[in-house]
Amino acid sequence: CGVVAVHGHPDAARQVYLGLYALQHRGQESAGIATADGKNLSNIKGMGLVADIFTDDVLNKLHGDMAIGHTRYSTTGDSALLNAQPIRVESTKGLIAIAHNGNLVNLGNVRSRLERDGAFFQTTSDSEIIVQLIAHSRAGTLVDAIADSLSQVDGAFSIVMMTRDRVFAARDPRGFRPLSMGVIENPGGQDTVVFASETCAFDLLRAKFVRDVEPGELVMVTQDGVTSRRFSSGVEQSSCIFEHVYFARPDSKIYNRWVQESREEMGRQLARESGVPADLVVPVPDSGVTAAIGYAAESGIPFRFGLIRNHYVGRTFIEPEQRVRDFGVKLKLNPVRNLLEGKRIILIDDSIIRGTTSRKIVRMVRAAGAKEVHLRISCPPTVSPCYYGVDTPRKSELIAANNSIAEIRNYIEADSLAYLSLDGLKQACDGEEHNKFCVACYTGEYPTQWVDVEDILPAAA
Ligand code: 5GP
Ligand code: SF4
Ligand code: MG
Repeated sequence: CGVVAVHGHPDAARQVYLGLYALQHRGQESAGIATADGKNLSNIKGMGLVADIFTDDVLNKLHGDMAIGHTRYSTTGDSALLNAQPIRVESTKGLIAIAHNGNLVNLGNVRSRLERDGAFFQTTSDSEIIVQLIAHSRAGTLVDAIADSLSQVDGAFSIVMMTRDRVFAARDPRGFRPLSMGVIENPGGQDTVVFASETCAFDLLRAKFVRDVEPGELVMVTQDGVTSRRFSSGVEQSSCIFEHVYFARPDSKIYNRWVQESREEMGRQLARESGVPADLVVPVPDSGVTAAIGYAAESGIPFRFGLIRNHYVGRTFIEPEQRVRDFGVKLKLNPVRNLLEGKRIILIDDSIIRGTTSRKIVRMVRAAGAKEVHLRISCPPTVSPCYYGVDTPRKSELIAANNSIAEIRNYIEADSLAYLSLDGLKQACDGEEHNKFCVACYTGEYPTQWVDVEDILPAAA
């Protein structure tokens, strides 16, 4: 998911709209914007893409100089509009709206305790737990109630929150998901403070990056300015490395490191670790492009766009009878036959999850006349599901959880297959920042104390 917040702008809704537009890649299922003007708190949500939901007419209904927004990542299961965000809850502490990126992991006991205390849940989303905890907190002030609530939940949360007159932003103590703070300077007036999941959103808002919200930090923005406090400390950082592999945009700086630099370095390292003689390096667009540029640069093998992506393939496209098995991939990708014919091709992609797409792409490249197809993946084998906000399928569906690399190579019908090593990946993402990363989907070792799979409600990343 993607989250955005704006404080102190006469048309906060349109600013959040622009931010969400830049974060559309983080979720296409639903989107919402809530605004506040000091007195009222409005909230509009819909299914689909940001630009389709928020027409001019809709934006005109959202008044106020504060706003938060959310774009939701596709998940299976529960009634989608019901779980769209921001979530708005009326409580003894007043109206609160929240937008959440990530997944909580100790839901079961917290939720049943709240229900015994009389909480009435509007959604099945894990994010509502945070608001209900705040609503039922015995802490005296709102900010104490928020800090108290955040210290009671475990898992991944980068959140933005809003009351009638304040904006909050917070990040879980391990810093699983990114969240950055920016500012739009207003000469002669109060600065506009903004928060976004990724810094690429700031460019569209003409906001200047200030800093990341720190793991375990709660930031509050009021008329009087920005204040900050810690609600937790003592656990080690475990920021999601998959943000650098796939999820974030290359033009974002995540955990103080440009995603573009990480990805290019993944490609370079991949070439050093598992080079193979070939004629062309070809990315699987878009996710493989930046790593492929690095691979080509390091290996000296020319880079070519041998696969073209159709950018107009919408999620709503209904396949007319699936008589042709490969139709889904063929709609999205098409080979450039004159480039591929008779060539030895190194295909670069970011990850293999189920293996079905990769197999179709390898077949497509071979059918276009490639002599050899070598697949190179810019991260290690995905062997375990994510419980922190990335919608990976269950273990039984992860091809690398149940098969050797040789068996996967055989299944996808590639001439050779190699993945980036875990050390290689960590080094590529590290730069000089010395971040500590979550790599659980590559190792099966989870950074939270326990993960009760049965407790995981439909993901609300
Ligand atoms: P597979 O071969 O596993 O069927 O598909 C691999 C492709 O899925 C890769 O191109 C990769 O970019 C993409 N991918 C990786 N992670 C995710 C994810 O979390 N969600 C979705 N929708 N696609 C992903
Ligand atoms: Fe990211 Fe993988 Fe950890 Fe999930 S399990 S947070 S995808 S590194
Ligand atoms: Mg891809």
